[in-house]
Amino acid sequence: MTVRTRFAPSPTGYLHIGGVRTALFNWLFARKHGGQFILRIDDTDQQRNVEAALAPILEGFRWLGLDWDEGPDVGGPHAPYFQSQRSERHQAAAKQLLDSGFAYRDYASADELQAEREAAEKEKRDFVYSRRWMAETDAQAIAFEAEGRSFVVRLKMPREGKCEFRDLIRGDVAFDWAKEQDHVVQRGDGSCLYHLASVVDDADFEITHVIRAAEHLSNTPRQIFIAQSLGYDLPDYAHLPYVAEPNGTAKISKRKLDKYLKNRDFKSLCDHGTAIAAAIGHETSADTFNPVIVDFYREVGYLPDAIINYLLLLGWSLDDKTEEFTRDEMIKHFSLERVNKSPASFDPQKLSAFQLRHMQQLPIKQKVAMVLPYLQKVGHVASPPACDTAPMLTKIVEAAGDRIKTAGDILEFDEFFVSDDAMPFDEKAFEKRVRKEGTPELLKSFRSKLAELERFDHETCEAALRSFIEANDIKIGDIIHALRVAVTGKGVGLGMFEALELLGKDRCLARIDRCLEHAAG
Ligand code: GLU
Repeated sequence: MTVRTRFAPSPTGYLHIGGVRTALFNWLFARKHGGQFILRIDDTDQQRNVEAALAPILEGFRWLGLDWDEGPDVGGPHAPYFQSQRSERHQAAAKQLLDSGFAYRDYASADELQAEREAAEKEKRDFVYSRRWMAETDAQAIAFEAEGRSFVVRLKMPREGKCEFRDLIRGDVAFDWAKEQDHVVQRGDGSCLYHLASVVDDADFEITHVIRAAEHLSNTPRQIFIAQSLGYDLPDYAHLPYVAEPNGTAKISKRKLDKYLKNRDFKSLCDHGTAIAAAIGHETSADTFNPVIVDFYREVGYLPDAIINYLLLLGWSLDDKTEEFTRDEMIKHFSLERVNKSPASFDPQKLSAFQLRHMQQLPIKQKVAMVLPYLQKVGHVASPPACDTAPMLTKIVEAAGDRIKTAGDILEFDEFFVSDDAMPFDEKAFEKRVRKEGTPELLKSFRSKLAELERFDHETCEAALRSFIEANDIKIGDIIHALRVAVTGKGVGLGMFEALELLGKDRCLARIDRCLEHAAG
């Protein structure tokens, strides 16, 4: 048997981080068993602009490196992979259910059903439909239609016993059939409801393992009933724990952002990303840009491997110590048996730690390639870049080290890319560091020392500063902070001497001059 798994997103316009975790587990399971991973799109007939709403989802998957063997764009032997285009199959299944007596035409009106529901409530018993308006024969149907009634198709669900099945994560599960309703599978207008469509599509696609979020566990009895009634082999089911909200157990949701923002780590993750997005001119409304959505990480410049590695551990572990996995290792070790039953909560700090670790392992060349587009987006670097950009950028990225946690962090070092006469001064830093009794004079005098240097590498600059301090009997702090503000405009940044070397003598001198003018003005 070839393992076939699927992920079945609705085209919502964004890729949810919890959805990716579900997709990842499906992908890993398929890859591990040499099987296929299928992407099915759970759209509905009424949905407009499916393509636009699907694009961010497909882009997200591509960015994360989760490839699908069948589905949109790639096609496959079971096409179409869009649920809305499969309605004939669903309708045929509804007819089969009717013909075989596993479903019936129901002519009850909404008011009649409501009255039954209220009666049950009053008598404090579970509501079970009386089937008073059930038509199992054409004669009954004709009689109801003569009354001007119309029908929907309902499942004729068992009312006794239990639906028992083995979930690959939860073990043996049992639901009372009596608690299930006679679910509607086809509306009056002939369109079919989701659960019927889903079961038919899974069977048509020969899905062997339905691996999905825990919220679908309670849908499984009706889906099993449908599958069995249609004579299908049942797939294996595995219901994954939620990706839970930070410090909580409820499913993480972008609707509850306000709540998560009270968590300091979540807020700083969010603020950091929002600042980068704003700098590159991207839309940053909280609804479309936040850490619950995969696009957030792509735009901020996270590494797909870091995200995937982090998500892997949200619900799965190999042992209690191994945290880092390459894709190949994940595929090798992954098993549903080691998926936890309880939800794993989204931990922004841990995610950041994964990102940093993966960044540290990235060859410098790749880091440079990652940061370059950010500088191009803000116009600091031309496209294509000038030939001296790569060597300079390599030095900046090397000097910045862990300060570049995500590719977008390069924008914090924009001082190297702005022209000398347009470099802004951080006024707060300027006030504190430069506008001090005696400081401009010290800067001026150190400027003349720098001007005399023949070499301008960081060692020479450092030696010059040390001898300047000694000669003037001052402390390093008396000059170095002012020097930084003068040449970078900022109070913090790269190592001072590396920054001097990177800028070069002419630019440093020009910037100091401009700083002195600014101080005098
Ligand atoms: N479209 C469904 C969802 O997004 C898929 C359910 C399933 O995996 O069966 O929740």
